Amino acid sequence: MDLQLTGKTAIVLAASRGLGKAAAMSLAAEGVDLVIGSRNMESLQQTAEQIRSLYGVRVVALAVDLSQAAQAEAFLKEAAGAFGKIDILVNNAGGPPFGKFESFDDQAWYQAFELTLMSAVRFIRLCIPYLRRSGSGRIINITSLSTKTYLENSVLSTSLRLAVTGMAKMLSNELGPDHITVNNVAPGIILTDRIRETLFHDLPAGMTQEQALQRRAGEIPVRRLGTPQELAALITFLASPLAGYITGTTIQVDGGAVKSPF
Ligand code: NAD
Repeated sequence: MDLQLTGKTAIVLAASRGLGKAAAMSLAAEGVDLVIGSRNMESLQQTAEQIRSLYGVRVVALAVDLSQAAQAEAFLKEAAGAFGKIDILVNNAGGPPFGKFESFDDQAWYQAFELTLMSAVRFIRLCIPYLRRSGSGRIINITSLSTKTYLENSVLSTSLRLAVTGMAKMLSNELGPDHITVNNVAPGIILTDRIRETLFHDLPAGMTQEQALQRRAGEIPVRRLGTPQELAALITFLASPLAGYITGTTIQVDGGAVKSPF
């Protein structure tokens, strides 16, 4: 299938590793030029170089702390100038900490608010003028399966991602006439460094990492964790002109983990 993405330009955030990096690579494989952002310039440069050498597209790497408003603005200014246009925005950020409701004070909530909700709000607002000019603008937010089902210890993530989900629905209506689609992709348990760090933290005595992985996989209908490429494939399709009639949705990539039929 020709996804008709060659020559498009995408901003992919939190792209030095994990799901953001996989999304950037998958878009690059379809001929998309990229501006990628993350805090750590060294690992971001390595990712940029890897993508350039594999796919021959143009990649600009810019350092940004997504929770900082001024840095978002500075990033966008440079990003917009890099190729003169923006067709696709992939909103992603590191996840807020896991924990029970009573373990988080106001400060933790405000930090999660900046990182998870306000980073998406700001980047969407900054990108809209460019996406309007694109004629097939795309906004894709990476959220979580916790927006569709219970995920233990994820109160910060779940609360703020549901705000992102609601915002995306509202925007799909407001931006539809401009041919801009707005969708959320909700990863289930996808094996990235974040998941490794969480799963392997405080293992019960005698349990190996392999056993921990198998135990987690046993709770998922397809009996395995997902790969970053599986989420990236959906993002790439949603980014394409072929997906112009899909907007206002949240699609999970979760091996069937969400039990609800909706
Ligand atoms: P990851 O930890 O492997 O990668 C996160 C990326 O975000 C890194 O590139 C990191 O440098 C960057 N980052 C973190 N904080 C940042 C900040 N303030 N400014 C700029 N960059 C920042 O995580 P991942 O597994 O790729 O997850 C990506 C997102 O998807 C997270 O929000 C996570 O909560 C969510 N998610 C992931 C899964 C999963 O199974 N992997 C499931 C549900 C939700």
